[in-house]
Amino acid sequence: MNLRQCLDNLSIRADWVGIREISEKISNRSARNGRIDRNSASLDHGFMVEVLVDGQFAYACTSTHTEEAIHEAAVRASKLACKAKAYQLHSFKQSVRPKAEGHFSSSPRNKTTDLSLKDLTDVLLKNSEVLKASDKIVNTVASGMIIERSSRMVSSNGSDSCQDITSIQVMLSATAQDGAETQTRSNGSPYRQLGMEVFNAHALEEISRHVGREALELLSAEECPTGHYDVVITPDQLYLQVHESIGHPLELDRILGDERNYAGWSFVKPSDFGTLRYGSKLLNVTFDPCVQTEAASYNFDDVGNKATREYLIKDGVLLRGLGSLESQERLGIPGVANSRVSSWNRPPIDRMANINIEPGDTSFDQMIGQIENGILMKTNRSWSIDDYRNKFQFGCEYARRIQNGQLTTVLKNPNYRGISVPFWTNLKAVGDQSTFEITGSPYCGKGEPNQIIRVGHAVPTCWFGDVEVFGGGA
Ligand SMILES: [Zn+2]
Repeated sequence: MNLRQCLDNLSIRADWVGIREISEKISNRSARNGRIDRNSASLDHGFMVEVLVDGQFAYACTSTHTEEAIHEAAVRASKLACKAKAYQLHSFKQSVRPKAEGHFSSSPRNKTTDLSLKDLTDVLLKNSEVLKASDKIVNTVASGMIIERSSRMVSSNGSDSCQDITSIQVMLSATAQDGAETQTRSNGSPYRQLGMEVFNAHALEEISRHVGREALELLSAEECPTGHYDVVITPDQLYLQVHESIGHPLELDRILGDERNYAGWSFVKPSDFGTLRYGSKLLNVTFDPCVQTEAASYNFDDVGNKATREYLIKDGVLLRGLGSLESQERLGIPGVANSRVSSWNRPPIDRMANINIEPGDTSFDQMIGQIENGILMKTNRSWSIDDYRNKFQFGCEYARRIQNGQLTTVLKNPNYRGISVPFWTNLKAVGDQSTFEITGSPYCGKGEPNQIIRVGHAVPTCWFGDVEVFGGGA
């Protein structure tokens, strides 16, 4: 379909028109306990027409791949904008839809066609066997989710841009059982813009052996103690801490109240930007869509705003929110290029993309070496955070005691809780580049109707003081 021609042929009443085409193929492959478990692929492909009429945006979409269907959607959107104008919240100008031109590709090393379904299945089957480190391992899963997304956008003010992104999540997990004790250990299900090279049999089997071994260790581990401790958190847990207690509260549409009914509000107030000390001086958080291989890297957001690296928090002080050009205009607060859509049939809203903690200068050994009485926690197991993104509680899969500068006993059922700003204020050391990992999640949910979007988080291992820790199932 020639989108540009389609746009030029539209005859509707609008001051600005954009057409966004998105196609997404999701393949889920998995093996469980040495048998093929899930083998599915789905394709979703359609068009969204967005119009601006007298300062009012409106949208209509179609999954019919004809010029007539797109024209019909455009007429529908134009009529909706005229009707909605009577209830207008804010009058927008074309400046919130800048001209975007260019092509972004995640450039995977190995394309999805480079690995046959049989070879991929063999890798997953083998890993589901390697994960079974003993008869006490009662369930193993080796799976991969491969997402191939292509988007193109054209607009009446000259935008013509496209993006081709391949991203993959690999999950390896082993559940061990002995009597009433059951413990699950996993690889943390890392998610990134990568190609089929991630299904490297040798590399994955090494991880699977490690995961299986640690699941067994947990069966005979001591219960995590209760009390206030120095806690060292590795990236496979810290990424979610960043997501929930920094990312979501900084979304400007939450602060505006748009999301109050569903995803929630925020403890952050408009007057906090530029003044609030969000964390210790060591805390530097960026919105960075330019990190190669991170899950939400792109050149433009879905409304054509050029994506650039920006500090959200610098030296502990809150500077900038996660808000689109619309939210920035409504609130008068600086934001980022984060107006994103989950699919062709959804309008853009304020989303996270890549939200990262910049690495510091402390090595892992230096961190552990300075702690007299602490706990190292790894890999997220459960999470809970209130509507204001203030009070939270996380459970991890695996922990070790830190005593007199040494890692000692393995601990099971480690959990911690806290309040966002005091927790980040207790940040005592930020790991160096050697502790820094790029990860993310394909499942950030928000919006009515719901939008599930892909987010990236690259973080180092960090040390927090005076954390409330407790054991037991979470
Ligand atoms: Zn989320």
